[in-house]
Amino acid sequence: MRLSNYFLPTLRDNPKDAQIVSHRYMLRAGMIQQASAGIYSWLPMGVRVLKKIEQIVREEQNNAGAQEILMPTIQSADLWKESGRYEDYGKELLRITDRHERDMLYGPTNEEQITEIFRSHVKSYRTLPLSLYHIQWKFRDEVRPRFGVMRGREFLMKDAYSFDLNYDDAIKSYNKMFIAYLKTYARMGLKVIPMAADSGPIGGDMSHEFIILADTGESEVFYQKNWFEVNKLDENVDIEGDLQPLVNSYLSCYAATDEKHDLDNCSLAAEDLVATRGIEVGHIFYFGTKYSDALRARVAGKDGNESSVHMGSYGVGVSRLVGAIIEANHDEKGIVWPESVTPFRVGLVNIKIDDRECLEASENFYTKLQLAGVDVLYDDRDERTGAKLANMDLIGLPWQIIVGPRGLKAGVVEIKNRRTGVLEECSIDQVMTKFRD
Ligand code: ATP
Ligand code: MG
Repeated sequence: MRLSNYFLPTLRDNPKDAQIVSHRYMLRAGMIQQASAGIYSWLPMGVRVLKKIEQIVREEQNNAGAQEILMPTIQSADLWKESGRYEDYGKELLRITDRHERDMLYGPTNEEQITEIFRSHVKSYRTLPLSLYHIQWKFRDEVRPRFGVMRGREFLMKDAYSFDLNYDDAIKSYNKMFIAYLKTYARMGLKVIPMAADSGPIGGDMSHEFIILADTGESEVFYQKNWFEVNKLDENVDIEGDLQPLVNSYLSCYAATDEKHDLDNCSLAAEDLVATRGIEVGHIFYFGTKYSDALRARVAGKDGNESSVHMGSYGVGVSRLVGAIIEANHDEKGIVWPESVTPFRVGLVNIKIDDRECLEASENFYTKLQLAGVDVLYDDRDERTGAKLANMDLIGLPWQIIVGPRGLKAGVVEIKNRRTGVLEECSIDQVMTKFRD
């Protein structure tokens, strides 16, 4: 992509209202634009990151055996009246009336809708276990939308739902998602701790939140100091195997959100306990037959007897993750994208566009890198060098190739690693070898 053609409305100054760094940088790097309180348009750079995150989430859901569907954003209120949540959910639920005076709502979550799909088609244990998910916009009329996409009113969520014949099977499904979540966040370069949590308006018996540590997080959290040393994720873990010992080993390390933190039950010495803040990037629930009882989603077991299906639901905050990843990956100059979610892998900067050699070399790199399948953003604009380099640092692509007249005379260009700041001189061939995987 040529920056001269790319819609990247960057801002030089910090927007006044943005209180936290991810919100500031997302606005400054031209990723989003506020449409109204807690509601954002996603601009090209923002969409690229959102889609990358979405794709990682999708791949790990598929690996865990969940099947993708797509349910609508607007739901009929009827099912919510059946489950009792139409009354219970409170003001966060956006209630809408259509032209026929029918009660509708903008879905804040989809337990009712998925249960309706399930109960229409599944009557026997033979279809189980079954896990379905979708990645869809949600609306919750939050009292205090803030921090940009981190607490929006409209936000993108992956929500999965599992259906099992009994408690034991349901826990197997829960454990699969538990491990799939750890793999998902690890691929995004995030350090995440699963913590025992309250289940809130979803309800249920067992629930864990997946938290990344950040001073700007809204949750107060407590965890065992050596948590990350003790718990190292084995990427080759067999998701179809018995995951209970692995899940137990994670859960045996102390970690809790403030609602669940209990000093009396925490055997850690004060110096081994860290109290800090975190961002909730996922939340999983086992809630048994709460919705299947209410909505009569029943299946026949092997013995022919019918019983309510056991369910769990599993959310990932896809749009919140964009902000959360920036909270965990930035410096004073801007964003520092992890390779797995970066909007482009390489930023190519021609610092002297009116120099024939610089132009030729840059165009040549641009063509060759694209042929090699490297996602490259090429700054071919007529701008001051300082402004171009500052802009590249702000948008945070992992690698910069800087083409200037002095280097070219010696047959080299500069490669900058955005994270370490290290500059390296490379010949043209070396550049191509470095980026051709
Ligand atoms: P929170 O405690 O942050 O309000 P929640 O517990 O109400 O979230 P869940 O129902 O668990 O949210 O939703 C699943 C995931 O969706 C959360 O873990 C979070 O990452 C994301 N999410 C929830 N609310 C928002 C929001 N208002 N804006 C952006 N992402 C959100
Ligand atoms: Mg939650």
